[in-house]
Amino acid sequence: MRIETEAIHLGHEIDPRTGAIAPPIYLTTTFERDPDGAYPKGYIYSRWDNPNRSSLESAAAGLEKGEAAAAFSSGLAAIAALFQTLAAGDHVVASQDLYHGTTRLLREIYGPWGLEVSFVDATDSEQVAAALRRNTKLIFLETPSNPTLKITDIRKTVEIARSVGARTAFDNTWATPVAQRPLELGADLVVHSTTKYFGGHSDVLSGIVVGKRDDDFFRRLKLIQQIGGAVPSPFDCWLVLRGLQTMPCRVRNQAENARSIAEYLNRHPQVERVYYPGLKSHPGHDVAAGQMSGFGAMLSFQVRGDRQAALAAAAKVRIIKRATSLGGVESLIEHRASIEGPASKTPDNLLRFSVGLENAADLIEDLDNALRV
Ligand SMILES: *Cc1c(COP(=O)(O)O)cnc(C)c1O
Repeated sequence: MRIETEAIHLGHEIDPRTGAIAPPIYLTTTFERDPDGAYPKGYIYSRWDNPNRSSLESAAAGLEKGEAAAAFSSGLAAIAALFQTLAAGDHVVASQDLYHGTTRLLREIYGPWGLEVSFVDATDSEQVAAALRRNTKLIFLETPSNPTLKITDIRKTVEIARSVGARTAFDNTWATPVAQRPLELGADLVVHSTTKYFGGHSDVLSGIVVGKRDDDFFRRLKLIQQIGGAVPSPFDCWLVLRGLQTMPCRVRNQAENARSIAEYLNRHPQVERVYYPGLKSHPGHDVAAGQMSGFGAMLSFQVRGDRQAALAAAAKVRIIKRATSLGGVESLIEHRASIEGPASKTPDNLLRFSVGLENAADLIEDLDNALRV
């Protein structure tokens, strides 16, 4: 099956009792036992597992070409669970250019808790290799990265990790399995904030980890999900499973819009620099073209001038909304440095743009007005 067909049908079985095409929402915390104490339907208690969650997990595993998946109540809960599989004293190599929440998770929670962490420029595979230690257990990266869309060579990173027996995990939130499938390129794990393109409508917070293998490591991760308890509700799972049915079609259209907008911005005299891997001028373009089947719908750009110039442009958009987050059908623009706080290394005149599903010409008109000086 191709991804459009998979997205619609994976995890969607006809309800055997009623014939319902859309899955019922199993708003139950607990399930009946047989007189002999067995659980014949396989479900015991909804923190442990729930039919809506298992449907979502099987769909996500199918889309990412993994053997198993574990859904969580947010993207960061999924990423935190991954770090919790490690022991105090283990070493993690992470990219300098990660989603800032992930950086904070490492710096403020799992660092103090005992993980050793090295932050590297992951676009430079020599830096990744040089950071490895005897106790390196995990390389955690994002490509394209946030917010400057740096591209890391997935195959090369996997090779480097294998030389010391470390696992590789890629946060594939921005690319989505529509444009990039790290597990097919040799990675061990993929994580998603399914809050973004999977859900696709800015109405549900959730996350997922997909494992290439359903091995002992992944069973440990499942244990952290089931005992740790950061699980999504049945309704959250239902919303994400509903959203992902249209993900291939949404992401392709949004990426097409993003390409037009990146080209428009690239020619605009008020724009200093555009970050979009689909542009030939992007330093990671060739690597991206070798590992992605599309370039995604996220871009960033620096407005000519200072912080004030960027904020002034963001203040003038009408169709595009000023908000954090990404991956929904509506276009969102954001001044990243101010949301990331004083420790942020993001340029002060940078705006990040989650390109939505509106008509590209309307979005370009909106930007044209906003950038008029
Ligand atoms: C939003 C985001 C996260 C965090 O996900 P939440 O669902 O907000 O917890 C992690 N990684 C990336 C790349 C994101 O965009």
